[in-house]
Amino acid sequence: MTELKNELIRHSASDLAAKLAAREVSAVEVTQAHLDRIADVDGQINAFLHVNTEEALAVAAEVDAARAAGGAAAGELHALAGVPIAVKDLIVTIGQPTTAGSKILEGWHSPYDATVVKKLRAAKMPILGKTNLDEFAMGSSTEHSAYGPTRNPWDLDRIPGGSGGGSAAAVAAFEAPLALGTDTGGSIRQPGAVTGTVGVKPTYGAVSRYGAIAMASSLDQIGPVSRTVLDAALLQEVIGGHDPFDSTSLTDPFDNLAAAARVGNVAGMKIGIIKELHGEGYQAGVENRFNESLQLLKDAGAEIVEVSCPNLKYALGAYYLIMPSEASSNLAKFDGVRYGLRALPKDAPMTIERVMGATRAAGFGDEVKRRIILGTYALSAGYYDAYYGSAQKVRTLIQRDFDAAFSKADVLISPTAPTTAFKLGEKANDPLAMYLNDVATIPANMAGIPGLSLPGGLADEDGLPVGVQLLAPARQDARLYRVGAVLEAILEEKWGGPLLAQAPELKTPALGAASNSAGGSN
Ligand code: GLN
Repeated sequence: MTELKNELIRHSASDLAAKLAAREVSAVEVTQAHLDRIADVDGQINAFLHVNTEEALAVAAEVDAARAAGGAAAGELHALAGVPIAVKDLIVTIGQPTTAGSKILEGWHSPYDATVVKKLRAAKMPILGKTNLDEFAMGSSTEHSAYGPTRNPWDLDRIPGGSGGGSAAAVAAFEAPLALGTDTGGSIRQPGAVTGTVGVKPTYGAVSRYGAIAMASSLDQIGPVSRTVLDAALLQEVIGGHDPFDSTSLTDPFDNLAAAARVGNVAGMKIGIIKELHGEGYQAGVENRFNESLQLLKDAGAEIVEVSCPNLKYALGAYYLIMPSEASSNLAKFDGVRYGLRALPKDAPMTIERVMGATRAAGFGDEVKRRIILGTYALSAGYYDAYYGSAQKVRTLIQRDFDAAFSKADVLISPTAPTTAFKLGEKANDPLAMYLNDVATIPANMAGIPGLSLPGGLADEDGLPVGVQLLAPARQDARLYRVGAVLEAILEEKWGGPLLAQAPELKTPALGAASNSAGGSN
């Protein structure tokens, strides 16, 4: 049984779906294997803030019952029915707490499900639990979580990226085959890069944001976290599509994504290297793996061209005005009256303003406060045009740069992050160094275009995963999956299997001890 469980957690979501459909394995077995893995290793990783054992097993049992009944009940099952998934704790769920990684929401339960969660439920995908994140998705390391940092399964002394480090680490540590993340400036792709997993930020509006606690509404996007490109495509098809509850939701079907991942052909495609997004400031091992991917794509028949997006040098600066401005407005609702925590002032008078002040002082962490102050200042009368207004103009320039670049190339390519995973604590007290980690991911959010990060290999100097990022024009998410799947296949052939197979084994009671007492289901 231990053998089977260890095998089950290592399958991709698409392989699990095939095994479930063929009734080689039950959804309860698959779900239990992942719950046991969480019990075994999450004490070291801290990817999960909440584990949803009972409900996940109940949904899995429903899938098994429908399959056993056969006929219409089995026929109506979604292809991913019974494949478990983890959900970033910024996305609201009925029946489980949602904290956004903040003390201010400790103990709060949402009265409604996010649209993406409704879609997971409709597909009968068991939800394993909620994953850790930087508070209100502000950070690149998960160290700003009020519930302790998540650790990188490749090296427990290093960060798993952020803000969605919990989702990426859960998938990299085989605690879940799939997860949902949110990406405002890179929080799906950068954790993907540093944990050796796949992460996709879809086109703005391709996936409903209804029920994702808003950070910066014009930049936020929910997207898939997985171990294979095909799995990400399958998941985006589940969660995507028009939603009347999100006024920025697109009406395009986005139903050609998995098919694109299965095509596997880049012959004749033009792939553009973004001049400004590699080279100086990027770690040598990151550059080496990036250049290797370029050569492999060329060998596979793609034409490599160089493009220039000169205004990308302003992207980070503009982002750190737009994002805090929108966040300061979005976070005004956490006032001690409507949600979660209420702290009282130490002395009289007990006015509503002072209760709000005491609640926000006690409930928000330093990084969140820093951004609220910055955003409130940037939006204040007299400064609005100079800061927020100018930053929005930069955004238009970035969009034009991308338009020009896409007239020369079908997709663009860059490293996902300038470095591999840094050590916990290394940048925690240096906000600017932390912000710089997102130089390559932020431009896609500024322009609303889709981006995919996939493992590009291990850096020579530290043996840690490097991410390669692909960008496509808005609405052309399918191109990312098509090119990503080709590069993944060539790289895996070179490595002799998935990159994560090279990750060190995590110590588990079940593997380490002679007797197997963990899990209780063996
Ligand atoms: N790391 C970036 C930030 O701190 C991006 C966050 C995100 O995408 N949610 O703002």
